[in-house]
Parts: sequence; C-alpha cells; structure tokens
Amino acid sequence: MSNLEAMSPNPSPTPDSASTSAAGIPANPPEPAPVDPSAVGSGAAANDTIFGRILRGEIPCEAVYADDLCLAFRDVNPQAPVHVLVIPREALVNLGDAGQQHRELLGHLLLVAAKVARQEGLEGWRTVINSGDEAGQTVFHLHVHVIGGRPLAWPPG
Ligand code: AMP
Repeated sequence: MSNLEAMSPNPSPTPDSASTSAAGIPANPPEPAPVDPSAVGSGAAANDTIFGRILRGEIPCEAVYADDLCLAFRDVNPQAPVHVLVIPREALVNLGDAGQQHRELLGHLLLVAAKVARQEGLEGWRTVINSGDEAGQTVFHLHVHVIGGRPLAWPPG
C-alpha cells in the first residue's frame, strides 16, 4: 500500500474502491471516519516536544486523520472555526531542518492538509508553517496549520 493509499484514518486491508487521480489521490475521498487510537500512537518518532508526546500517545489529542507518515489533530487554541495541525511522525524541527530526503514527506503533509480541509467542509483555507522563533514558532516539531471557516485577513500579523 502506498503512503497516499494509506490516507484513511482506519486503513483497510482491502483495496480502496474510490477512484483516484493520476497522482494517486482519491477523487472522491471517503467520509471522515473515527480515528483508530492505535494508529495515533504508532510509529512515532521520539522527541521532547509536546507533539512528540502526542505522537507517542502520552497525552491526548483530538485526531482527525492519521497514517504511517503523519498525524492531524485539532489545535488546542483554535484561531478559527477549523484549526487543525498536520505533523510528521518524523521529528523534524521545522522547514529549516528539512533536506532533499524530505521532499516526499513534505509533499505528503501538504496533500494531507488539503484532504483534511475538505474533510472539514472547507472550500477555502490557509496553510501556515512557522519556522523559527522570529516567525512565531512555539512548538519545535514541524507542523502545518490548516485554518479556515471564517474570512482570513492578509497580510498576517
Ligand atoms: P506554532 O506557534 O506555529 O509553533 O504553533 C503551535 C500550535 O500548537 C499553537 O497553535 C498551539 O495552540 C498548538 N498546541 C500547543 N499544544 C497543543 C496541544 N497539546 N494540542 C493541540 N495543539 C496544541
């Protein structure tokens, strides 16, 4: 099973019958399903951030999507009606910590961000990746914010 095929929160042993685009992304993604808690805590990279603890199942989160590469869960301090964080299981600090070897993972995180946004019923949304103190990063485990459900101003603060 490819990473993209595994984008169901509860991966099934049987092939997904939904049609897929050339990129392998389901054209008609399945309805959101309850997240299997065992999928949330598995495969987590060890690190010392709060997100590392969430990945290891040490503290709870409200997960909306999980696969072998990443986990998506609701932000505890939402800035909009929908505010989800997509994080890799690998303990990358931020984009400044990423290299060529992370090309596929970074693409996957963005595809999952879009999938989650649609899953949440959004037609438009903002994705944000804060990298470093100056950009406002407070948790030093790479994460993609998916924000929507209200009009969003630009430029951001
Ligand atoms: P950033 O400022 O880009 O590093 O974003 C970190 C985000 O993590 C903030 O929006 C926080 O509200 C969020 N956050 C911190 N702790 C948790 C947690 N335990 N569960 C969910 N979201 C969290």
